[in-house]
Amino acid sequence: MSHTPYRPETIALHAGQSVDATQSRGVPVYRTSSYLFKNTEHAANLFALKELGNIYTRLMNPTTDVLEQRVTALEGGAASVALASGTSAIFYTVITLAEAGDNIVSANNLYGGTYTQFDAILPKLGINVTFVDPKDPSNFEKAINEKTRALYIETIGNPVLDYTDVKAIAEVAHRHGVPLIVDATFTTPYLLKTIELGADIVINSLTKWIGGHGAGIGGIITDAGTFDWKAGRHPLFTEPDANYHGLRWAIDLPEPLAPIAFALRVRTVPLRNLGACISPDNSWIFIQGLETLPVRMIRHSENALTIAEHLKSHPKVSWVRYPGLKDDPSYPAASRDLKNGFGGMVVFGVKGGYEAAVKIIDSIRLFSHVANVGDAKSLILHPASTSHSQLTEEQQLQSGLSSELIRLSVGLEHPADLIEALDQALAGV
Ligand SMILES: *Cc1c(COP(=O)(O)O)cnc(C)c1O
Repeated sequence: MSHTPYRPETIALHAGQSVDATQSRGVPVYRTSSYLFKNTEHAANLFALKELGNIYTRLMNPTTDVLEQRVTALEGGAASVALASGTSAIFYTVITLAEAGDNIVSANNLYGGTYTQFDAILPKLGINVTFVDPKDPSNFEKAINEKTRALYIETIGNPVLDYTDVKAIAEVAHRHGVPLIVDATFTTPYLLKTIELGADIVINSLTKWIGGHGAGIGGIITDAGTFDWKAGRHPLFTEPDANYHGLRWAIDLPEPLAPIAFALRVRTVPLRNLGACISPDNSWIFIQGLETLPVRMIRHSENALTIAEHLKSHPKVSWVRYPGLKDDPSYPAASRDLKNGFGGMVVFGVKGGYEAAVKIIDSIRLFSHVANVGDAKSLILHPASTSHSQLTEEQQLQSGLSSELIRLSVGLEHPADLIEALDQALAGV
């Protein structure tokens, strides 16, 4: 019977699962490395992409397929590929569309690991990254040249949680025939519909809020299915691919597969031959997380706003950044785009600089001192001495990172308990 399209809360619980022969209500974990071919013709068709189906778990798995379909539905995309980590999702995305001699133009306020990948690893492979300040979209425009294969941004950037104007940067990208890659980890598909705003490829680290329990590492790439890879900038999609018996991805695929050329190339080139696959057990863990993502993101956002407002009035705090504070520089654009909340991340500066910050980290209770975000439990970190310590002092300052900055990933505890723990730690400095 026809019905109105399901809303995100419903999609998060149901999309992608077709009940199998066991009638199992929960999504089963298919712990298998390989799948029986019906006969040699079936096997040949699978390898030739004439028919889609299971071959080997490095390439695809029925449990992982549920996860991929569910994230695709939540993002409003065309296809997704889950991988061993958010980091491998980023690397595979870049090498699927760029090769030696090409470049991408990236926001400079990135997750620490991504920054190092772009700054120190990709250039060694011949893929250069031009970093620009994303606050002004025209900075991307100025940096694009004939070898540019993509623009890259995060929805809410490090370290001061500036909201990036996805729509404005997508317009720049599309004016130049370049796809926009968006790392949407900090907003998740529940808070922000990046594809509606113009993203062509969306990356989520599943490790964070989608998993939500700090229980596994994973990443996922979602292909919006709308970018025209034939437009002229992507020879990897228009010239015969030696990785796949001479297939021209943007030209030769049969009609139903043509819109997901990017996702198919991720699966059949880097995933197949470099191998950072997700285990079906971890896919199952992330499916459990997805089921409650909408309710959790609402609570994360409410708790974070309560804490940001409290810290703002605290005499020992010099500044607070949270995109949901009405006087935050990011508020105008963030409140236009984020309809369900502003996420769980809050950063603030403590009076007394590096020493005071370190003292708070070492004395606070309830907040776990870890290099992670997006757990149901509240987390605390001092980026200058940890996640961003590989950057030079100049790079740190350029990205807005100061030594008094403390980063909170606000969890689902009662906010009054979190405020009491923060107040006690602040009283000690
Ligand atoms: C954690 C994170 C990553 C990397 O994901 P992993 O799953 O840890 O490899 C990338 N981008 C952002 C914004 C992240 O928070």
